[in-house]
Amino acid sequence: MDLNYSPGEAAFREEVRTWLRENLDGDVRERVLDYRELSKDDLLGWHRKLAKKGWVAPHWPVEWGGTDWTVVQRYIFEEECGAAGCPPIVAFGVRMCAPVLLRFGTPAQKQRFLPRIYNGDDFWVQGYSEPGSGSDLASLKTRAVRQDDHFVVTGQKIWTTLAHYGDWIFCLVRTDTSREKRQEGISFLLIDMRSPGITVRPIVLMDGGHEVNEVFFDEVKVPVENLVHEEHKGWTVAKYLLGYERMGTGNIAVSKRELARVKDLAARATVDGRPLLDDPRFRDRLTRVEVELMALEITNLRFLDQLRGGRPPGAEVSLLKIKGTEIQQSITELMMQTAGPFAQAFRPVDPNSTFDRLTASLVPRYCNVRKATIYAGSNEIQRNIIAKATLGL
Ligand SMILES: Cc1cc2nc3c(=O)[nH]c(=O)nc-3n(C[C@H](O)[C@H](O)[C@H](O)COP(=O)(O)OP(=O)(O)OC[C@H]3O[C@@H](n4cnc5c(N)ncnc54)[C@H](O)[C@@H]3O)c2cc1C
Repeated sequence: MDLNYSPGEAAFREEVRTWLRENLDGDVRERVLDYRELSKDDLLGWHRKLAKKGWVAPHWPVEWGGTDWTVVQRYIFEEECGAAGCPPIVAFGVRMCAPVLLRFGTPAQKQRFLPRIYNGDDFWVQGYSEPGSGSDLASLKTRAVRQDDHFVVTGQKIWTTLAHYGDWIFCLVRTDTSREKRQEGISFLLIDMRSPGITVRPIVLMDGGHEVNEVFFDEVKVPVENLVHEEHKGWTVAKYLLGYERMGTGNIAVSKRELARVKDLAARATVDGRPLLDDPRFRDRLTRVEVELMALEITNLRFLDQLRGGRPPGAEVSLLKIKGTEIQQSITELMMQTAGPFAQAFRPVDPNSTFDRLTASLVPRYCNVRKATIYAGSNEIQRNIIAKATLGL
């Protein structure tokens, strides 16, 4: 087996690295590395740069803008983006709504929405969860009543990430309340966030940041042409989309970058006059995380290869979600341990000290990443999915 990169792949890496160096704005990069909040302009600005270059949606079919890269090239691209400190490409449009439209959308829906998603003309968000309907998503209550050429939507979504930036929201709504099976009678609607009757209310998380929201729908009119797939069959669409959502939760490239930062800091931090990196217990913890990350990386490559072969992500991607998010949390824990007494939010910040600069964002980051094992379907639910699908329980 040849585990080295081919000369072509090495040249591709160099091309990506050079382009990222020349095109990633220094201020935005700094905000990413300092875990600061990114504005809509930060996110869409980077999206649009990549779109112009033709690199924003490598996994799409070529006729819609995909790159036809090999699995290795896609992996190299993601690795370089992570290492460079690029903002994330927000998944809701490119990685979630688009695969749904490609699979279930009418030709008119594809024509209307895909180029705008590609170019970053609209900011998309996800309207699945409701109060009391998170893990038990099929119990959702937001109603959509059909009246002639439109639906009238009334209800509430919650935890809607970046809804305050949203131009469009894809929503699961109940279109038939008489079905015995709750999964039947749900439909998948695309809703313009500028429609009258929509209110977005912020939820501030324990890190102090505004990332998620409540979204209220009060008799919002949605044209029937915004229904994706058949009426009452939205559950099929919902499940298909969730597979793609979980593919994107591993965050491997970012974890690699952050683990390298931990190592670098641990080499400089001292305990009893010796570098923390020389402490056997710390090394043990660090090495375990590193080995798990390597294993996850290989697993991710296997799934990417399946996707390339045209197989949609199945229950196995729950593995990526579980391990990827646990690793992200472990890294923030190592980071806290490394910073030691510097990881105290009340310390005055000295902009010239690496530790103090890190400190300013470390506690909020540590708190923020607790979310990772909850969103995109909690890790307990992912374990249930694996048990059902793989072990047949
Ligand atoms: C930061 C953040 C961003 C989010 N962004 C979005 C978004 O953009 N759009 C969106 O639609 N949703 C979003 N969500 C919602 C997310 O999908 C839900 O929070 C998640 O599905 C859990 O649902 P819940 O909060 O209702 O908790 P519950 O379902 O009430 O679960 C509570 C606890 O019970 C456990 N549990 C529940 N059922 C079982 C079971 N059968 N077996 C074992 N354990 C179980 C859960 O694992 C969890 O620990 C976001 C959530 C967070 C935290």
